[in-house]
Amino acid sequence: MSAERETDYRAGLSAALAAGFAVLGSGGSSLDAVTRAVVALEDNPLFNAGHGAVFTLDGRNELDASIMNGATLEAGAVCGVTRIRNPIELARAVMEHSDYVFLSGSGAEDFAASRGFEFVGSDYFHTAARWRQLERIRDGEGGVSPLTISHVGTVGAVALDSQGRLAAATSTGGMTGKRFGRIGDTPVIGAGTYADDRSCAVSATGHGEMFIRAAVAHDICARVRFGGRTLSRAVHEVVMEELRTLGGEGGVIAIDREGRIAMEFNSEGMFRASRLSGEHEKIDIYRESRP
Ligand code: ASP
Repeated sequence: MSAERETDYRAGLSAALAAGFAVLGSGGSSLDAVTRAVVALEDNPLFNAGHGAVFTLDGRNELDASIMNGATLEAGAVCGVTRIRNPIELARAVMEHSDYVFLSGSGAEDFAASRGFEFVGSDYFHTAARWRQLERIRDGEGGVSPLTISHVGTVGAVALDSQGRLAAATSTGGMTGKRFGRIGDTPVIGAGTYADDRSCAVSATGHGEMFIRAAVAHDICARVRFGGRTLSRAVHEVVMEELRTLGGEGGVIAIDREGRIAMEFNSEGMFRASRLSGEHEKIDIYRESRP
């Protein structure tokens, strides 16, 4: 990645972190904080969510998102939506204003209309960079993996607020070149997203098929809650052992009820940013921190 591009990614992470932290700093909820952070990333064309999402094989954008409130175990998710600017806000509306947890496709959009959501045209999501990536996949260009393209960019946030409430949110365009209505782990509660005040909050990115099979986010929370693991050990076991055994590439960001943060990945890099109250932000891309 060019230095200029890296600077842009870092700026995008920093802006999203600031959006979430502003909520927490003024005594707001972790739920609002993760929503604001993910909206900022969905609006940023660099990331694989909202504007800038990857394309399906037939050249469309199908978006997935989910959110969970660790205080109540309420959750909301949408998948395969094509006309919603900020899918995370729709997932949150499903959680707060419907009798359901998980809505798909046109039904999710009917619900969005009933809640007064604004609809955008498909061109809103389009970016030239993502289109070029699709063309390279379609052309079968060697060395270009749909996974690597995609998970350089799925977005998520986890937070703990001043009242001890945890929340997690994740949003994605899924995997480049996906077809047949494929849905990954991102909107699947327990796979891509989970939050429980009794343990931790987790948001995942990576090869969704394996993350679903390993129930990644819930497994990490369960290891903390029932297995006596620290957060970092639970994250390490799932990302470096369970997922690796399945050949699942990717990683997670997580925070526990004490505010301990763990961000681990078994891939080359993972864009990530964190901030604790009273401390400066930390932003990293690769395994080793670079200035
Ligand atoms: N996990 C997402 C999916 O499988 C993609 C990603 O994180 O790269 O849809």
